[in-house]
Amino acid sequence: MPKLHAIAAFNDNYIWAVTAADGRTMVVDPGSAAAVNAFLADSGRRLCAILITHHHADHIGGLDELRAVHEATCYGPHDSRIAGIDVRVADGDTVDLPELGLHLNVHAVPGHTRSHIAFHGNGWLFCGDTLFSLGCGRLFEGTPAQMFASLDKLAALPDETLVCCAHEYTQANGRFAQTVDAGNAALAARIAQVDARRDAGQPSVPVALASERACNPFLRVDDPAILAALTAHHGSAPADRVEAFAWLRQWKDHF
Ligand code: ZN
Ligand code: FE
Repeated sequence: MPKLHAIAAFNDNYIWAVTAADGRTMVVDPGSAAAVNAFLADSGRRLCAILITHHHADHIGGLDELRAVHEATCYGPHDSRIAGIDVRVADGDTVDLPELGLHLNVHAVPGHTRSHIAFHGNGWLFCGDTLFSLGCGRLFEGTPAQMFASLDKLAALPDETLVCCAHEYTQANGRFAQTVDAGNAALAARIAQVDARRDAGQPSVPVALASERACNPFLRVDDPAILAALTAHHGSAPADRVEAFAWLRQWKDHF
């Protein structure tokens, strides 16, 4: 059975790693080569595959250095801003890594950036900066409609899917979530769990998708309590779910 690890990098990034029993290793979004090399130095691990979700430097910054030293195949989106991709993949493609026991489906999830992709398989979702625990990525290149469609697509994956997002933003996201969804008991329980984990020096993620559907306001814009909070904040009701999502994202941007 392949094993999942969260490698901490920079202030709040996670570089997700999957290891096989024989030490073969895959990493997702290696923004820092040093962080990955430190992980590989442990117990004879060797890098054989790299996944890239999007072109931002904190996700690809370690790519050149890792590729110079390791014989790893790199999978990533069709985007000329990312050099060093061996296999370009798009929505509907699969990434098969039998040596790691991994079979991943590729989903296009535009919004944070226009070419952002996510990888789903083995019960894990590597979603980069699209879905965070209790939040979602900022809209740098996409429209609210695109991002909302991307989140809807991810939210439709199975309940037990473990969300492996690329940043530890959960506590800050939780403060916003409680502002817009104050009466949500599942959210209060999740925040207590996150605070306990962070106090113990542990990551707040991965988290089950079912928990996110119950707690993450960006997956809950149809909820009457969130619609009421949005309407009160804005002084009028959103015209539709996309506008509700757009208003929620803007509110968070200025929170
Ligand atoms: Zn990013
Ligand atoms: Fe990032």
